[in-house]
Amino acid sequence: MRIIPISVPTPFYVGPVNCYLIAEDPVTLIDTGPKTKEAVEALREGLRRARFRVSDIRRIVLTHAHEDHCGLARSLRDEAKDSIVLVHGWETGHRVGRLEYDEHRQLLVRAGVPPEEIGQMRRMYEGVRAYADALEDDQYSELRDEMELEFATGSLRVIHTPGHTPGSCSFLREADRTLIAGDCVLKRITPNPVLSPDPVDPSRRFHSLAEYLVSLARIRSLSPTLVHGGHGDSVTDFEELFNRYLRAVSERQAEVIRLIPKSGATAWDVARELFPGADDVHRFLAVSETVAHLDLAHTEGKLALELGDGREIYRKSGQ
Ligand SMILES: [Zn+2]
Ligand SMILES: [Zn+2]
Repeated sequence: MRIIPISVPTPFYVGPVNCYLIAEDPVTLIDTGPKTKEAVEALREGLRRARFRVSDIRRIVLTHAHEDHCGLARSLRDEAKDSIVLVHGWETGHRVGRLEYDEHRQLLVRAGVPPEEIGQMRRMYEGVRAYADALEDDQYSELRDEMELEFATGSLRVIHTPGHTPGSCSFLREADRTLIAGDCVLKRITPNPVLSPDPVDPSRRFHSLAEYLVSLARIRSLSPTLVHGGHGDSVTDFEELFNRYLRAVSERQAEVIRLIPKSGATAWDVARELFPGADDVHRFLAVSETVAHLDLAHTEGKLALELGDGREIYRKSGQ
C-alpha cells in the first residue's frame, strides 16, 4: 500500500497543503487542496507522476473540512464518477446551507469581539469560503472513529482526533504505524484550535484545546513511527513534538493568565494584548487561540468566568 504525498499550493498564509494518494485499489485521495486553478494543476500533475488520473479516484477522504483541505472535493467527485467522499459528521465546512455563521457570531459576541470587527471577520470568512465548493448531504458519507478503510493489501484505521476542528480525523496504517494526521500534527507550527460551535450543542463553544490535548495523548499511545501532517515535513519523532506542544501550551496559558487585569477581561481584550500586530485575517485566529487557552485555564480552575452584558469576563481565581 503506497502512500504518495502530493504538495498542492494554497493562497493562504500557511503555504502548500499536503494531499496523500493511496495508490492501491480502491484508489484513494486524502485531502484535495483549495478550489484554485493552481491547485487543480498541481494535483493533476502529482497524479500523473504517480501514473494516475482524476478519473481513477474511487474514494476522497477528508482529514477535516477547512478550505485548503476540502476545496476540490466536490469537483473531483463529479469528475471521477462514482467516487465517494468521506468526512467526519462533526465537520461543517463542506456543508451546503449550514447555519454556522450565526452560531459563530454568537461565540464572537460572547468573546467580547466588537460588532464592526465581527462584520470584518464575516467578509473575510466569505472570501475564504470561495475556495471550496459545498457538498450536498447526499454527496458524502460519514467517517467514524475506529472505522477501517479497506484496501487490496491492507487498511487504514480512522482515528477521530478532535481539536483543530471538532471532526478532524487521522488515519493509521497499523502495519508500520504510519499516521496521516491532517492539521492535528504539524512539524513547524503549533496547530491552532479554531473557535467552533460544539457539534452536539451548537449554542456552546467546543472545548477545542482540551479535546486537542486528549487527541495528542491518544496519538502518542499509538506510538507512531512516522506522521504525515497537513502542511510541511513529516514528523519522525512524535515524542519530541508531543513534549514541545505541551510546553508551548503551558507557556501560552501562563502568558494569557498574566495578561488578565484585576478588573477582569474578555477574550478579545486578551487577544489584542497577545497579538497586537494581528491584521484582520489573523484576528479571528488570534481570538480563537486566546479563547482556547482561556477555556482550558477555566476548566483547570485557574480562572473564573462570569457573564456580563452578554460577554464573558475572565478573572484570576481568588480575585
Ligand atoms: Zn485546518
Ligand atoms: Zn490546513
